[in-house]
Amino acid sequence: MQATTDHIKITKTKESKIHEVDFENIPFGRVFSDHMLVAHYSNGSWGTAEIMPFQSLKMHPAMSVLHYGQSVFEGLKAYKSKEGTPLLFRAKDNFARFNESAERMCMAQVPEDIFMDGLKELIKLDQDWIPTKTGSSLYIRPFLFATDEYVGIKPSDDFTFIIFTCPVGFYYPEPISVKIEEHFSRAASGGVGAAKAAGNYAASLFPNQRATEEGFRQLIWTDAKEHKYIEESGTMNIFFVIDGKLITPDTNRDTILKGVTRRSVLTLAKEMGYLVEERPVEVAEVVDALKEGSLSEAFGAGTAATIAQISEIGFRGNRFELPDVESREISNKILDKLNGIRLGTVKDEHGWVVRL
Ligand SMILES: *Cc1c(COP(=O)(O)O)cnc(C)c1O
Repeated sequence: MQATTDHIKITKTKESKIHEVDFENIPFGRVFSDHMLVAHYSNGSWGTAEIMPFQSLKMHPAMSVLHYGQSVFEGLKAYKSKEGTPLLFRAKDNFARFNESAERMCMAQVPEDIFMDGLKELIKLDQDWIPTKTGSSLYIRPFLFATDEYVGIKPSDDFTFIIFTCPVGFYYPEPISVKIEEHFSRAASGGVGAAKAAGNYAASLFPNQRATEEGFRQLIWTDAKEHKYIEESGTMNIFFVIDGKLITPDTNRDTILKGVTRRSVLTLAKEMGYLVEERPVEVAEVVDALKEGSLSEAFGAGTAATIAQISEIGFRGNRFELPDVESREISNKILDKLNGIRLGTVKDEHGWVVRL
């Protein structure tokens, strides 16, 4: 079956795989929906975007992304309203950040009619894959990579853009234990930490593995220069509630990724009347607050997990237990509201949700 919607060519799968999926029990990132969108960039322009059955890619052994890592990605989610309408949350923000990441990595910009229109067509076509169980959603992964068949370090001339989707459940089923990292770093000033560049995540594996061996689920990254300031937790932005104030590191530097979830949390917190501070956050301030008992909440914020409650923070061999998740008024209220907006049960006053 072939169809064309304006400028996107659609080839539908002959046989849906949806019946093979146990929607009650979906492992994160291992189940893929029926279709994907693919577009190629060469000779300075984009070819026609095509939605096709999900399939493996052919690649040349010298394809430059495999050697030099020119690759960026995004992560966003679609939900289904009670009436069954697919809802996209803040996709335009992800589109904007995608092209900022691409620019930093010397890659072609993806035009709106490929990214946004392609995304909408893909989600409409695979809308039966959007799970409706509490905590689940359709995770959307757009990515762009260098395809020059050339061994040599230079910006690639050719690129491939793909979007595929995965039905997912909770990212972290339990609150997480995290360690304040004072040796390794995620991002240095002048580097690529503010871009969703593939290599950032490869570089984080080793320090994360070491923390896992010590019994932590994630790291709290500190600044590369002095390890004095808190930056992020794993692949999430980080928030603390100290003396009743919601505090998060500011993003006026290029070592912290500007999360869409972070921005949503800040907007909702301010509207709910909480005191919010975006500023440099010292490790010492957080550790003192843990010792004094003035730290009442800590959580990571990112698309995959939404809000990941932190149950324990490790620092220099000490482990500090945090208050029960049930007692955390601020993050629980924000999470409820955010979930309500995303699912269409709470009024979207910010134009964050697009109904398909
Ligand atoms: C993706 C990501 C985040 C969270 O961003 P969202 O837009 O909220 O998903 C935070 N930090 C890093 C390093 C990330 O890669």
